[in-house]
Amino acid sequence: MSWIKSRILSSIPGVVHGFGRRDSGDTERIAGAFGLKRVARLKQVHGCRIVFADDEEIFDSAALEGDGLVNASRGFGVAAAAADCVPVLFADEGGTVTAAVHAGWRGTLAGISAEALRLIEERYGVPPGRMRAVIGPSIKLCCYEVGEDVASLFLGKFGPDGGYLYEKGGGKYMLDLPRMTGIILERAGAGAVETLAPCTKCDDGFYSYRREGKGVPSQLSFIGLL
Ligand SMILES: [Zn+2]
Repeated sequence: MSWIKSRILSSIPGVVHGFGRRDSGDTERIAGAFGLKRVARLKQVHGCRIVFADDEEIFDSAALEGDGLVNASRGFGVAAAAADCVPVLFADEGGTVTAAVHAGWRGTLAGISAEALRLIEERYGVPPGRMRAVIGPSIKLCCYEVGEDVASLFLGKFGPDGGYLYEKGGGKYMLDLPRMTGIILERAGAGAVETLAPCTKCDDGFYSYRREGKGVPSQLSFIGLL
């Protein structure tokens, strides 16, 4: 297991995290390696549903559907799987609440990362300004070509500014999903945002849907509270 670490999450006491590559292993292996009792993950469905770990029996079931998990219990972790989609990990600066979000283009368009911040404030009273968010390895502007249909949805919702969309001609566009996620997080008032460099399609140390096709496994990224 070789994990990519965020600078802004590594400095929070009591928080462990990692963005995985192909060798990330499963949630049990992560729990064992990092001293967590359990690490939960969801059956991801490219939606906008956020699940609170203390609401459901999520640590015993991988069948619960959703695309974001929030955890505030010590000894537990939450994970998001992705193979080109954007994994986003969150923690507050005091190390009391964490979240793992999976955002493909649909989840990004729906603003799932802003929804996570909103729900964390509603439930735990932690305002977005005290939250740190890290945008993990994903497909980047270099490789993420989309058609007019997807591009027009983003233009309609977010407008043309921000440098997240470039027209190539022939009805094709290059979409910068991590940049878009950064814009969404900044507009939602996140206290700190960091974006990690690797492109999952360019770097074959990662699983990539666009490079390897349907049925490709995904790497896990996780965050836990010790
Ligand atoms: Zn690339």
